[in-house]
Amino acid sequence: MPELPEITVIAKQMDKQLRGKTVAGVEDSQPKHLNMPIEEFAEKAKGKILNSVSSRGKWLFMKLEPECFMLINLGMGAEILSFEVNQKLPENAQFRLTFTDKTGFTIHFWWFGYVHLVPEKDLAKHKLTSQLGISPTEESFTLTHFKELLASRKTSIKSFLLDQKNIAGIGNVYVQDILFRARLHPNRKISTMSEEEKEGLHKAIVEVLNRSIKFGGSAFEVDFYGKKGKSALDDFLVGYKPGKPCPRCETTIEKIRTGSTASYICPKCQQENKKERESVGQAFDRKSARYAED
Ligand SMILES: [Zn+2]
Repeated sequence: MPELPEITVIAKQMDKQLRGKTVAGVEDSQPKHLNMPIEEFAEKAKGKILNSVSSRGKWLFMKLEPECFMLINLGMGAEILSFEVNQKLPENAQFRLTFTDKTGFTIHFWWFGYVHLVPEKDLAKHKLTSQLGISPTEESFTLTHFKELLASRKTSIKSFLLDQKNIAGIGNVYVQDILFRARLHPNRKISTMSEEEKEGLHKAIVEVLNRSIKFGGSAFEVDFYGKKGKSALDDFLVGYKPGKPCPRCETTIEKIRTGSTASYICPKCQQENKKERESVGQAFDRKSARYAED
């Protein structure tokens, strides 16, 4: 499932490749993704010029002129792929947008996903994107701002991080190593977190996501050109590594159930009710220093 790093990479590629092109047509064999009938959608999109592509959390924002946005969410996993003139198109793609130069892109949705066309004046009223929280890659995602978001919250830290209304873009893949790096159990109540822990968590969020963006996103997802990212399972610290040793203390990593999601934790480094941290030796600090330098 694509999360912030993958969507950030795709948005940058789309912006570079498609800016200035004019929409010639749109087709969709599964119009449930759209927010209006396909005929109306195609009619409204036709002739519009792509001004820019950006992203927020897991959403792509295609700004079209005059005064319109095409908002795309890839859901639980989908491929959005560029095509050139006369290129054979993926047979499984449900959505296709063609520009007047006969290039374009297709989307193959696996489960749910959305392509919504919204007039610029109504963007603030678009339910699914208007409630999105801040993207951790935005400059305004400062420690002070993060602490304000956490203030007086009563939930567990993992459910807070996964709720896109708080922070947009973190899903069940990247949250694993974020929590591990911050030495927090997924069920840890926000109200019991120290200032130091909040600081560590803020740093972990920014570093884990930016590191993956640098590597072109996850190796389990493809970019706009069908190329896999370079952030592979080996790069994960505890995420999706049950049975493997913790990189800090070598305790066996466990897979546990937290609410409706699975979590991967080191039971020693991430204790649920522990306030005082144990010394876990120097091993991680060396790794951590290397990790930060990558
Ligand atoms: Zn550990």
